[in-house]
Amino acid sequence: MTQVPTIRLNNGVDIPQFGFGVFQVPPDETAETVRAAFDAGYRHIDTAQMYGNEEGVGRALAESGLPRDEVFLTTKLTNDGHGHDAAVRRLDESLQKLGTDHVDLYLIHWPRPGDDRYVDTWRGFEKALSEGKTRSIGVSNFTVEHLQRLAKETGTVPAVNQVELHPRFGQADLRGYHAEHGIATEAWSPIGQGKGLLDDPVLTGLAQKYDRSPAQVVLRWHVQLGNIVFPKSMHAERMRENIDVFDFELAGDDMQEISALDRGAGGRLGPDPDRFG
Ligand code: NAD
Repeated sequence: MTQVPTIRLNNGVDIPQFGFGVFQVPPDETAETVRAAFDAGYRHIDTAQMYGNEEGVGRALAESGLPRDEVFLTTKLTNDGHGHDAAVRRLDESLQKLGTDHVDLYLIHWPRPGDDRYVDTWRGFEKALSEGKTRSIGVSNFTVEHLQRLAKETGTVPAVNQVELHPRFGQADLRGYHAEHGIATEAWSPIGQGKGLLDDPVLTGLAQKYDRSPAQVVLRWHVQLGNIVFPKSMHAERMRENIDVFDFELAGDDMQEISALDRGAGGRLGPDPDRFG
C-alpha cells in the first residue's frame, strides 16, 4: 500500500499530505465511497457541514475498524454558522454526525467578508481548540488580506488555508504568504475538477514521458510543491491511481513547465472568496 508522507502543522500535529475529498459525494453513497477510499490506502478525509455527508463519513469510519488516531478527519463550518457560539455549536453537531469526540482539523469554509464576522468566528474556533473538540484549526478560501486581519486581531495563526489551487490557478503570492507565516497550503480542486486541464498538451506530453496519467502528473506537481491534496473520485480504480504518486519524481524543468500553465485569476474555476456568500 502507498506510503503517504505527513506534513507537520504549525501546532505540531501531523497531517497526511494526500487525502480524499467528499464534495458532491451523495449522502447515501458516502459510506461506501469512503470505505473504498480506506481500502485504497487513504487515511485523511476532507468533508464539510455543507456537503451534507458527514454521517456517511462517520459510518465508514466506524465500520472500518480503523483506530481513530489512524484517520485524519477535517470538517468545515457551514456558511450560515458564523459567529463565536454558533461555530462551536455547529462543531458539536458535526462530532455527533461523524461519531467521534474530536476532529483533527476544523476550517472556516468561506470568509464571507461582507458579513464581517470571521474574526468573531475564529475566536469560537480557538475555544473549540482549547476544549479538545478539534486538534487544529484553520481557514479556507482566505485571501492574504483576511489572513492579515486574523493575525492582527487574534492570537492563533491558522494551521492551514484550503484554497482553490491547480496548475491553471497557481496562487503563487498566497503560497508565498503561507510559507512566510507557517500556514500549510491545502489545494482544493487539485486536478481542476477533472475537466479541461487534464487534456492540456503539456500534461498529456509529460504523462507520456513519465508513463503516468495526466492526473498523476498534476498530483505529483502538488506533492513536490508541498501542497496538501485530497482529489475526489467515486471510482476505486481512480482512487488508487490518484494516490499512487510517491514512486516517481518530476524534474525541475518539468515542474516549471506545469507552473507556467498558470492563467492567474482567469484560471479560477470556483467563486471569488471576496464575493462568495
Ligand atoms: P478535483 O480536482 O479533485 O476533481 C474531481 C473530479 O475529477 C472527479 O469528480 C472526477 O470527475 C475527476 N477525476 C478524479 N480522478 C480522476 C483521474 N484520475 N483522471 C481523470 N479524472 C479524474 O475537484 P474537487 O472534487 O472539486 O476537489 C477535491 C476536494 O477539495 C473536494 O472533494 C473537497 O473535499 C475539496 N473542496 C473544497 C472546497 C472549499 O471551498 N474548501 C471547494 C471545492 C472542493
